[in-house]
Amino acid sequence: MSGALSVVHVLDAAGAAPAGSATPGLVDARDISVDFYLDGVRQRVLDDITLSVPTGSFVSLIGPSGCGKSTLLKVLAGLIAPTEGQVLVNGMEPHAAAKRRVIGLAFQDPTLLPWKNAIENAAFLLMTADDAISQADAEARAAAMLKLVGLDGAERKMPSQLSGGMRQRVAIARALALDPQVLLMDEPFGALDAITREEMSRCLLEIWQRTKKTIVLVTHSIEEAVFLSGEVHVMGGAPARILETLPIALPQPRTPDCITDPAFKAAQQRLRSLLIEGHQRRPA
Ligand code: ADP
Ligand code: MG
Repeated sequence: MSGALSVVHVLDAAGAAPAGSATPGLVDARDISVDFYLDGVRQRVLDDITLSVPTGSFVSLIGPSGCGKSTLLKVLAGLIAPTEGQVLVNGMEPHAAAKRRVIGLAFQDPTLLPWKNAIENAAFLLMTADDAISQADAEARAAAMLKLVGLDGAERKMPSQLSGGMRQRVAIARALALDPQVLLMDEPFGALDAITREEMSRCLLEIWQRTKKTIVLVTHSIEEAVFLSGEVHVMGGAPARILETLPIALPQPRTPDCITDPAFKAAQQRLRSLLIEGHQRRPA
């Protein structure tokens, strides 16, 4: 398939999937526990975590710093094997799903190659993952994804010429170029200033609404979680568990002014008190 055609495929798929048509469990984690060993001493970080991420949904994981959010995301991505429990991504073990490009990843650090321009960076993973694709097709798809993240016109810029927000957009375009079914994001806007972060939030909302990718976002921002998510899993305690799964009862499609909705404030307050509870359940 040509790059241009595969882009049409993504956007058509988005159009064909009306809001609310989600079916359960594209990502299913059952009874996940993770132990790490520090100086030979076993430390349980995650305990008995079960969650199900419906196809096409936007789900956030929120919790105190150090509670195990990144660890859980890495388990979902197949980067860490759980000590106990099982994860299935579209019915496959996560590492098998990752190999088949079902999973796309974005982290706080965009990790762009400094000697490649925006389009080459956005095409890079696709070129690596697909031996058969030509550079022209990979770059056509990368260009479409750069457009989707609002970076048309910056395709030939080098990472050093891009702002932090723009670099993160390239990293998201790079993940989307793989056409994954699920995008796992670990505090992707954590290093950005407040205003850029809000801009990126709106950009991500638009990406989700247009592509209908399933998105799991790790964030420590209450506002970001409420604004973007259909459901927020609140983690806390040591070892961490899911303290509560909070559905966000804001209308879809979300618009930037949903922050004035009383349901927004109510969800914010509930998350704040759950986070405080999560802190208190940890050793000082
Ligand atoms: P969060 O993302 O919520 O800030 P992490 O998942 O990064 O938390 O870490 C959870 C806990 O696990 C922390 O105490 C951290 O020090 C520990 N940890 C994370 N990765 C490892 C590792 N590879 N080896 C040992 N301990 C780890
Ligand atoms: Mg983390």
